[in-house]
Amino acid sequence: MRVIVLGAGLLGVTSAYFLRQQGHDVTVIDRQATPGAETSFANGGQVSVSHAEPWANPGAPAKLLQWLGREDAPLLFRLRADMRQWVWGLQFLRECTPARTRHNIAHIVRLGTYSRSTLQALRRDLGLEYDQRTQGILHFYTSQKEFDAAEAPARQMRELGCERQVISADEAVRLEPALAHIRPQLAGATYTAEDESGDANRFARELAARCVADGVQFRMGEHITALRLDDGQRRECSAVVNAAGAWARPVAQWLGIDLPVFGKRRTVFHFTCPEALPGCPLLIDPSGIWLRPEGTGFIAGYAPPEDADPDDAPLDPDHAAFEDHVWPTLAERIPAFEALRLRSTWAGYYEMNAFDHNAILGLHPACDNLYFANGFSGHGLQQCPAVGRGLAELILTGRWQTLDLEPLAFQRLLDNRPLLERNVI
Ligand SMILES: Cc1cc2nc3c(=O)[nH]c(=O)nc-3n(C[C@H](O)[C@H](O)[C@H](O)COP(=O)(O)OP(=O)(O)OC[C@H]3O[C@@H](n4cnc5c(N)ncnc54)[C@H](O)[C@@H]3O)c2cc1C
Repeated sequence: MRVIVLGAGLLGVTSAYFLRQQGHDVTVIDRQATPGAETSFANGGQVSVSHAEPWANPGAPAKLLQWLGREDAPLLFRLRADMRQWVWGLQFLRECTPARTRHNIAHIVRLGTYSRSTLQALRRDLGLEYDQRTQGILHFYTSQKEFDAAEAPARQMRELGCERQVISADEAVRLEPALAHIRPQLAGATYTAEDESGDANRFARELAARCVADGVQFRMGEHITALRLDDGQRRECSAVVNAAGAWARPVAQWLGIDLPVFGKRRTVFHFTCPEALPGCPLLIDPSGIWLRPEGTGFIAGYAPPEDADPDDAPLDPDHAAFEDHVWPTLAERIPAFEALRLRSTWAGYYEMNAFDHNAILGLHPACDNLYFANGFSGHGLQQCPAVGRGLAELILTGRWQTLDLEPLAFQRLLDNRPLLERNVI
């Protein structure tokens, strides 16, 4: 079968790799000169299976009531006389029952563990090197209530094979001694030793090189406009994969399909610190700021509040956020960061699925050979191995095979069934 993959980011490259493994004739087309040059360029690089708590959980309805009308709420919800919004709200409440929450956690953990083991197999079998580290992820809590609420989902994740351990404040400080300064404020933490991180751009480039060696064609520097290349060529194919990241919406619009994926600007800050923090795990602050070692320094990022997070903002790094929010918070947690030196910044788009912050996969009823791999909302590195393989199997056999990805299929949007993801940081 001849398959065209639109986009040479993480999703395009992994899909191309698995499609080629199945013997398809695969061409990847991208307007950039090299693979992984847009959102897959310099992201957080987390492979965080422990991020598996859905927004819709038994505590959410009470929180939503508190958040109503609050502009600084983590989830901004304005009541409108809009039938679709009310149906969405009712479906959201349905997903908040303990049984549905457990079901959704199980689904997210299964996808995460399967994807991580596929990633590990890829790097082992192909010898990929992308600065990968397995130093774990430490979420720390300064609110006793939030810490207590982390216990039940962590237990369920352990039952499902994701070893998210609940640890005391003292144990958290033992893992990362730099937190000693805020020991009195710490309620506790969770730690997932198997969670990984790595350089997503290097991963995409290394896997793309392997694809080329295996016979995948890369047409780089080509801007796709309605499946006709800039040079006027018409490319025939049996199937197309929409892996256009934050620009996937216009591709869907060619067929009149409404794909609710929008670009949300995120900035990554790279800095060095005079004091080394050897063995520092990936840290997640209660404010949502994340931090991890990268090379001889660190990278950090944050999610702006929803009302200060417009769609498709220009890709200028948000320096003010660093000065006003990120740096002061980091320095308050770990005093050594008072002396940090900002080395570089980079801004890219989260390809945010506005419907429920989760990937949108597979076919839409309007077209039987355009496959979607979009809307990862901050999980593209983590999920691309599972999704790339899943799509290749779907295209070959018409069914999800190794892992059932149907809960992430496009159909849930048409049925107004949100699978809300909480850990979009
Ligand atoms: C700051 C930040 C931190 C993140 N942290 C993490 C993390 O820690 N863990 C994680 O798993 N994920 C993370 N993500 C998300 C992850 O980076 C994305 O989910 C992933 O990179 C998306 O890959 P993609 O292939 O879908 O999109 P992209 O990498 O954007 O690739 C899409 C490609 O399509 C091409 N394209 C689009 N339209 C056209 C067209 N018309 N013609 C030609 N080419 C076109 C683009 O040039 C681009 O190369 C983060 C994202 C950001 C921004």
